[in-house]
Amino acid sequence: MRLQHLFFLISLLLSLTVISMTAGSVRGAWDDVSKARGSLEAIEHLQVLLVAAEMASRERGPANGVLGDDLPGDPAKRARLKTARDRTDKAFSTLQGALDRASMPQPGASRPVSQALAQLIRARAAIDLTASRPRSARGADEIRGAVSQMFGVIDTLGPAIITLTNEAQTTYPSAANALIAARLAADLREYAGQLGSQFTVALTTRQPLGAAERVAIERLRGRVELLRKQLLERTATNSDRAAVQAAMASMQDHYFASAIPFVEAQTATGLHSGHYDVDTAGFAARYVPDMDAIVSLRDVLINEALVDAQAGLDKIHTKARWMAGGGLATIALLALTLWMIHRRVVRPLGRTAQLISAIAQGRLDLDVPRPKYRDELAEVLEAIAVLRQHSEARLVLEEERQRLVDQLRDQSNTDFLTGLPNRRGFFELAEHDLTTMHRHGHPVTLAIFDLDHFKQINDTHGHTVGDSVLVEVAALCCQHSRSGDVVARYGGEEFLVLMPYCTLEDGALQADRLRRHIEAMRIPLPEGGELHITASFGVEQCLPGDPTIHGVISRADERLYAAKSSGRNRVVSSDTTLQAS
Ligand code: GH3
Ligand code: MG
Ligand code: MG
Repeated sequence: MRLQHLFFLISLLLSLTVISMTAGSVRGAWDDVSKARGSLEAIEHLQVLLVAAEMASRERGPANGVLGDDLPGDPAKRARLKTARDRTDKAFSTLQGALDRASMPQPGASRPVSQALAQLIRARAAIDLTASRPRSARGADEIRGAVSQMFGVIDTLGPAIITLTNEAQTTYPSAANALIAARLAADLREYAGQLGSQFTVALTTRQPLGAAERVAIERLRGRVELLRKQLLERTATNSDRAAVQAAMASMQDHYFASAIPFVEAQTATGLHSGHYDVDTAGFAARYVPDMDAIVSLRDVLINEALVDAQAGLDKIHTKARWMAGGGLATIALLALTLWMIHRRVVRPLGRTAQLISAIAQGRLDLDVPRPKYRDELAEVLEAIAVLRQHSEARLVLEEERQRLVDQLRDQSNTDFLTGLPNRRGFFELAEHDLTTMHRHGHPVTLAIFDLDHFKQINDTHGHTVGDSVLVEVAALCCQHSRSGDVVARYGGEEFLVLMPYCTLEDGALQADRLRRHIEAMRIPLPEGGELHITASFGVEQCLPGDPTIHGVISRADERLYAAKSSGRNRVVSSDTTLQAS
């Protein structure tokens, strides 16, 4: 597999792995954020729920007032009850709206709230029914039943409070203490309310406290005291929170130092004479406002929990942002790294490999790119540029050597004087021609000719004239030979003409044409005058049985000898003699 393909494959796998791992951890972090948001919302819902529960508790005060009233009833008391009920309804509607809009549905809270609302409607109906009868006709059990139905509203809300508290606590353990303390304060408010309600029957009937009320008061006093202790323990750990300490002090002052002594005084009256100095409304007016300090404490504690939770959410949010940022940075870094490796290693390596292969194949026309960076590949490219220069130089030397070899071969095959192929050159050309002609069955004819009395020309006019005669004869033969014929200087003043595609008869005619051209040639002499020369020719056809050209030359030479012997300036072949007329 090519390195580039391998790199792409690994890059793809690595990117997919890193992206999916990053996406997984970022999604996990954002899931934590939305869960933490839901838990913070649970505390806000708990706050609203506790307010609704408190409103339902508060409603019992004016309800007790109406229950202890004679018919036709004090309009002011009924108006107070209506106002209290409206407030409760509003609080429940706010609570239901908040639960309906919750980002994470809380069926464990919504269901009890709906049930509590139904319970509230039933309790109100029971109170209204009791209050519609004359005071003397209202039995103690009936009043107790109506009042306890109102208690039932708070009991029904219990599971919702637990669900929301648990939800918040699991995400924000640091807010758990404040949440538990807030619930204790809410319970305290409820039991304090229930404690006050225990006087409704006695105050309505103007009788000493009944046995049930006495037990209930004893029990509720115990619970209230226990809750005070628990709150003191819980809030001791929140000692650095001034708002909590102030709310605790206020609760101690108002409720435990003011309302509780009042309750004790009423209890004392209820245990003995039953001559109370307040009616139910008067009891409520004196007792209920002191309970507000408990509500304030509850609100402060809930706020503490909210602050803690918000801080926790911020931390989780920040962590998620870091995770997302870190994930994106990792992906970006990976992309950058892969891009850099591709740009600075893989791609240049591919090009460098192509370049080296091209140089190895002798293609030196390719440009060696200028390196963009001072790195190892730059050194490789520089080395390649040097190698290419060396290769170019070597190529030039090789070409020069080849040229010299060719020149040498040409020189060794060429006659220096006439420029014709010499004996060696002739053999090279003729052997090749002869083989081809024989293979295809074409006739080839050879003529050999020798200048007549050449020695005499040298002797009479000098060697220089002799040389120029040789040159002139060579040029003449080339001029009057057919293309494809090979004219060569065989040695001295002897020449050869090889005529491919030529029969013996045609070869003899062609030789005679050359003979006549030589005969007609006039060579000016330096001393004035002209020189006439003649030549004698022997012509032979090359036979398929001739393994080499030497046999033909030797046969043609015999014909030449015959031409010389029989008077010169003539052409002799095996079947004819052509001579000057
Ligand atoms: P024949 O008609 O029988 O051929 O007589 P000839 O004089 O031509 O014969 P011979 O072979 O006796 O003479 C050839 C002469 O050619 C001898 C030699 O000096 C001369 N010769 C050979 N090569 C050259 C050359 O390159 N230049 C010159 N100028 N003369 C040459
Ligand atoms: Mg000769
Ligand atoms: Mg001669």
